Amino acid sequence: MLVEHESNDVSRRTLIVRALGSPFTARASVVIGVVALLAVVASAAVFSEVSKQMRREADERLDAHAVTVAASVADLIATASSDIRLARRNVIFDKALADSTGQLLPADRTAVEAAITYLGTRYQVDEICMIRANGLETARWVGGKGVAPVSDLSPDERENNPAVLPTVPLPDDAFYQSQPYVSPDSERWVIGIATPIVLSSGEHAGILHFEIPIDRFVQELDGAPFGGSSANMLLDRDGRLLVHPDLAAFRAASNSSIDPRTAPFPLATAWGSASWRDAVGQILSGNTGATSYDQDGREYRVSYRPVADSNRIVAVVSPITELYADVDRALLNLGVIAVPLMALMLLVTGWFARRMSVANNGLAGLNERLAATNSALAETSRASADLARESEIVNQFTELTALSEDDVALSVATLATLDELVRPDDASLHVSNPSQDRAVPQATLGDREAAVLSLHELGRCPAVRRSSLYITEDVSARLSFRCPVYPVETGTLVCVPLVAFGETIGAVHLHWATARKLPLPIRLGITRVSEHSALSIANRRLLLALRGQANTDGRTGLTNSRSFDETVERRLATRGDREHAAVLMLDLDHFKVFNDRYGHPAGDEALRVFASLLATSIRQQDIAARYGGEEFAIYLAGLGAREATEVAERIRERTQSMIIPLGPGQTGRLTVSIGIAVAPENGWDRVLLLRAADEALYQAKTAGRNRVVAADAGGARKSPHPAAARVVRPRRKAAQG
Ligand code: GH3
Ligand code: MG
Ligand code: MG
Repeated sequence: MLVEHESNDVSRRTLIVRALGSPFTARASVVIGVVALLAVVASAAVFSEVSKQMRREADERLDAHAVTVAASVADLIATASSDIRLARRNVIFDKALADSTGQLLPADRTAVEAAITYLGTRYQVDEICMIRANGLETARWVGGKGVAPVSDLSPDERENNPAVLPTVPLPDDAFYQSQPYVSPDSERWVIGIATPIVLSSGEHAGILHFEIPIDRFVQELDGAPFGGSSANMLLDRDGRLLVHPDLAAFRAASNSSIDPRTAPFPLATAWGSASWRDAVGQILSGNTGATSYDQDGREYRVSYRPVADSNRIVAVVSPITELYADVDRALLNLGVIAVPLMALMLLVTGWFARRMSVANNGLAGLNERLAATNSALAETSRASADLARESEIVNQFTELTALSEDDVALSVATLATLDELVRPDDASLHVSNPSQDRAVPQATLGDREAAVLSLHELGRCPAVRRSSLYITEDVSARLSFRCPVYPVETGTLVCVPLVAFGETIGAVHLHWATARKLPLPIRLGITRVSEHSALSIANRRLLLALRGQANTDGRTGLTNSRSFDETVERRLATRGDREHAAVLMLDLDHFKVFNDRYGHPAGDEALRVFASLLATSIRQQDIAARYGGEEFAIYLAGLGAREATEVAERIRERTQSMIIPLGPGQTGRLTVSIGIAVAPENGWDRVLLLRAADEALYQAKTAGRNRVVAADAGGARKSPHPAAARVVRPRRKAAQG
């Protein structure tokens, strides 16, 4: 349990480590980052939109104020002007001016002066006068002084007030506004306004001229403040600043006259920053608008409007900080609420994403482990499937080798099996021949030819030399060894030795045209098959050798009794109905005596000499066998009793005349007794024939030995005889029973 806890801890730690570096976390971080960015961008957009909107509204307030001020200035002139214009049509003027072309008649003068006094007082002008069409001033009223004596126009009046000149005919209803000038009557800045007097007869009789003091404009502008440290200004089109809260200071700065009433108006561009002068340029353009400028480190906004029916312009200036004070306050409030909210939102999102990430990584870890298990399982099942397939192929190969009758069949089975296992493009299998002097290609695969090699040549194969598998993964590689037995230029070559019982009996060469890696299981498979193949070939050779020994009698080199019995049985079974066959049983006479006389080794030699006599006395299709001890048997294919007796007789005679060398100057002699049985007369099968021949032999012995006896056609005598015991061998007994 303790171990389990520990491993859980470790895996949890691993999960957390993964959570920090996993793709999900990276994605989550990106998502959070994007959300944060979007939130910031959205907030910034909202802030910017709100502030733009509020600034626009503030600007509009400033513009509206400029409109109001401009309208009130226009009213100031227009109201007085239009009223005075109405008044000039007074019958008093009509009568007085119609009466004379020069100075007024005394009676008219009083009435005219009363009228202009009324107008001057009524409209708070500084001065009002009547000038005749010929330039003659006929009446004058001056504010604060009353009716004044007429006098010539001052040069200043003339210059700034060309409307007072008779040479300037004013159309009816028009009124002319002059540039500001210092009135010689009031000795302060005024604007002169002239309007024509037209008599009821239609005659242009002169003008009414009156002066409105600039102070009236100052009062008007001061009476409508925008608020804070804002300023309402009045300029004329030439850029002269007529009204401004700091006008006195500007005048002083311009080093002008000391008396503010008469000092000239300074040009607005005569001081201030470059951006202010730029702003003045725009203000003087004659258009309505607004602009901003910097002055002494502060930013200002100015909204300007031309005053209707005049050459003057109203401009309202406010410091930006005051103008937009509400905006900044609102934004601050918004920020105070929004920023913490946004931070909280990000925190919550981050926390949630982190939780998701950890959970997801837990799942990912599980998935990973599952996938690993799955792939391990798949690997195992693939490996076991491979193993099963390989086992099946090798099993089939084992069966094939058991059924294969010779080296060629075994070799073909070997290459076919290797082909199934590893699919080479071409291959060959060499096996040494029985006389061990050549390596013969017993099987090939693909188009490549394989030659018979001397064993010496085969020995140059690296696998044969080392008695182990030799793989050249890329034959074309510079340092790779080229096998002389299987000369290829490219691809992969596998040299496999065929080794059995510690001895190399051949080699297999497998070649793939393109280079490849051969994994361990494949190498093991190749080794298994080749080892089994080598063992099978060697075993089969051994078996053949053993079988040869088993069928042969070691002492005489003749067929032994077991092989004789089998062969005779087979021959008789396949014999045609009319076909004869004879069996001879031969027993050396008094051999015991021979042994006793010359010794056992001499007896052995005698047996060998007799055996070769027999071997040379029969045809190729006949069989001579040592049947046991000094007893022999012969099968004569196709011979009847007569021919068989002839053969037997010839053998008996040759034996009798046979001289057996027994040592220096010593020889021995022997005779033989022979019993003959013939198929079909004496029996159909081996047992009957051998028994009959045995009985005939017994007769030959009892008849005196060194003779041939053929069995009677009616069957052999059935008397107990020592020879009969020999018949009762396990095989014969089984056959009898
Ligand atoms: P008979 O004429 O009745 O056949 O007399 P025999 O002596 O040949 O008969 P018996 O069967 O009594 O003796 C056979 C002898 O053959 C006995 C045995 O020592 C001898 N003998 C059997 N096999 C061999 C052998 O391989 N080598 C030698 N040297 N003697 C053998
Ligand atoms: Mg005997
Ligand atoms: Mg004998």
